[in-house]
Amino acid sequence: MTEVVTKQELDEAFAMFYGMAASLKDLASPPVEVADEERVAAAKRVFLKGIDANFATQLDACVHCGACAQACQFYLGTEDPKYTPVHKLDLMKRVYDRELSPLSWLKKFIVKDITADDLRAQQELVYDSCTMCGRCNLVCPAGINIADMVAMNRSALAAARLMPDELRFMQEGQEADGTIFGADEDLFRFRMDALQEKLGFEIPIDKPKADVLLVTTGLDIHLFQDATGGTIETLHHMGVDYTLRSDAYEGANFGLLSGHEGTKKKMAAKLANAAIEVGAKVVIVPECGHAFPALRWGAAEALGKPVDFDVMTVSEYFGKAVMDGRLKLEKDKESRVVALHDPCKVGRWGGVFEEPRAILKAIGWELHETESNRAYNFCCGGGAGNFLIERANPLKRAGYRVKMAEIEKTEAKTLVVSCGSCRMNFEVGKVNAGDTIPVESLAAIIAAHLPKTEGAKA
Ligand code: SF4
Ligand code: SF4
Repeated sequence: MTEVVTKQELDEAFAMFYGMAASLKDLASPPVEVADEERVAAAKRVFLKGIDANFATQLDACVHCGACAQACQFYLGTEDPKYTPVHKLDLMKRVYDRELSPLSWLKKFIVKDITADDLRAQQELVYDSCTMCGRCNLVCPAGINIADMVAMNRSALAAARLMPDELRFMQEGQEADGTIFGADEDLFRFRMDALQEKLGFEIPIDKPKADVLLVTTGLDIHLFQDATGGTIETLHHMGVDYTLRSDAYEGANFGLLSGHEGTKKKMAAKLANAAIEVGAKVVIVPECGHAFPALRWGAAEALGKPVDFDVMTVSEYFGKAVMDGRLKLEKDKESRVVALHDPCKVGRWGGVFEEPRAILKAIGWELHETESNRAYNFCCGGGAGNFLIERANPLKRAGYRVKMAEIEKTEAKTLVVSCGSCRMNFEVGKVNAGDTIPVESLAAIIAAHLPKTEGAKA
């Protein structure tokens, strides 16, 4: 493997990036002044449009068993009942009770109407203390999809112009530039040129046709270049017919994270149209948890029609190639005890579990599973954009402690991740807690174990 970035360079980039991320709140433009009645009306419109028969049934189905609380890292990490997952739906339930339920004529007299102050208080519940990880969904005996309904709450708050400043800054920036953290086309090309020089081969950009469209993200362009470099090196090794696009390289989607429907669909459509234009059979999204659902399920929604390409994350694409023999990896001379973190959106939502494990097995590393793993894995505590929200820091740390306690029990020497947000949250959590376990990108690990000889062709 070619070392595209040293440990020291990574540490320095991380410190710089973390400083930049910490100033987002100050960089955000002043929020637009909106009358409280308008905020309430806008939020209600989203709820009334979004609560279909399915959600209505679910809102009536809670048996108050409390199982969802025991599934949520924010409740467990704080023991504060306000973070019980189902409580995050209270506001939505009030709108449903008063306006849509069969007993709405009666409930109007009993259930209080929502106010702008209620909406402001809801911010903390659906942005800061929920990563839409979906773990609570799995344990709910009534089958209530809390994570999807939290997403609808985010859309309601976005419509009421009550996003957290940091996410509003990110959403407005991506709406204007198509990318995040100022990773514009010049910077993208600059980074690709630098990677090309280090890797010693040409990186295909803007090929008119290709089997695979590779997408990256501003987070990797600024920070996790080992993940991007590892992915490119492995695709090159496998002889895959792939391309990046200078007009469609940003996989992050701050429309999805902020709840802004317009930006969400615009960004998904941009990538989907680029994939169609190049005739891609597969789009590989970077090690970025939410980039995966934003395109895997968002592409068809954004275009209003089915798409005929697959969307795979890096660990899924390479893991499948290892499992069916198209990608051979070299075993380490000495085994290493590692823990693996299954990212919520890629694992629990996308079902990608065996692929990363096949990669670790192929290189001879000894995986010590954490107590929660695969579909039931605990979130890192920093997903769905909350890792950028400053006031959520105590909650992120609480979530981090829940997962890190499990990792420590495995006695692993390395934590393997395949999501940049998880990696970021673990790195920040380590600094705050004084933990030292190295956190490594699976894409970089794969590239470090490519055989020296010509690999099998895809
Ligand atoms: S989706 Fe995850 S973070 Fe949100 S309430 Fe459920 S368990 Fe907690
Ligand atoms: S697990 Fe389901 S039924 Fe039980 S309290 Fe939570 S939402 Fe209600």
